[in-house]
Amino acid sequence: MNYLKFFLFVIFASAIFLTSCKDDDDVACAESTWYEDADGDGLGNPDVSESACDQPSGFVADNTDTDDTGGSSATGTPVSAFDEFNSNAVTVSFSGDEITIESNALPDHTSPYWATTNSLYIDPVIADAGQMSPGAITSGSYTVTVPADPQIASSTSATGLGAIGIAVSGAPIFNDEEGPNISLSEQVASGFDYAGGHMGPTGYHYHLESSDVTENTTLSYDDESLVGILQDGFLIYGRKCNSTGDHPADLDASGGHTSSTQHSNGDEFYHYHIINEFYVGSYILLFGVDLKGTPNTIM
Ligand SMILES: [Zn+2]
Ligand SMILES: [Zn+2]
Repeated sequence: MNYLKFFLFVIFASAIFLTSCKDDDDVACAESTWYEDADGDGLGNPDVSESACDQPSGFVADNTDTDDTGGSSATGTPVSAFDEFNSNAVTVSFSGDEITIESNALPDHTSPYWATTNSLYIDPVIADAGQMSPGAITSGSYTVTVPADPQIASSTSATGLGAIGIAVSGAPIFNDEEGPNISLSEQVASGFDYAGGHMGPTGYHYHLESSDVTENTTLSYDDESLVGILQDGFLIYGRKCNSTGDHPADLDASGGHTSSTQHSNGDEFYHYHIINEFYVGSYILLFGVDLKGTPNTIM
């Protein structure tokens, strides 16, 4: 090998070496910070973290767990919250680590959707009579069994048509759809009663937060009252949280967060809130996002 050939070889080899180094740098992963989730509630401990490209086992991206020692797991859904449900409609039974909620679907508030012969019938207060759906409130049957200590699932779940939860009044909570892929319209919503509900083929149900009218004496309106329980077992409260007395600023995309409420005696647990934003017009949806837990069938 003469010097020229050797020289060219060195240049060539260096070029390959440099190029391959450069390639290595390009494919190097972007490390993220992962936080330990010792109690498996989906929330990570801000004080114990690692950097890694891929999510290490037992670690999550969240870093909002204020008690990663099983605090929220041990607490579960505060039992006193079930005292808020209309006992004439709703029966709650506790069995081991499960809670079964059964309702006859008859709400304990006035509405123009009651038959005129019912003592709770009132003329429409805010409902546009021409947009009211046909039918009158009759008893139904809704039953759901949820874990007493519901957990955040590894991924969120979309809700479907029909009941997605049971409100404290006993009537079911529906999402933001009126039919398969048919979103609730402002026109349909204009026929809702002050409770944010109307009749459908399966009976009376809520889509919206109630309205601030004098006739409304029981339902949550821009406050911290309990609204009901959703099919994944997490409670849903009004737009404000008892932990701060105000609209929470730390809600996730499902409208949930982990804090104490008026029912939990200072213990923190995951719950939803009505998200404080308008849907169509000035209406506010009860729940139009994805569930954070695992949905159970409401039969
Ligand atoms: Zn509906
Ligand atoms: Zn809250």
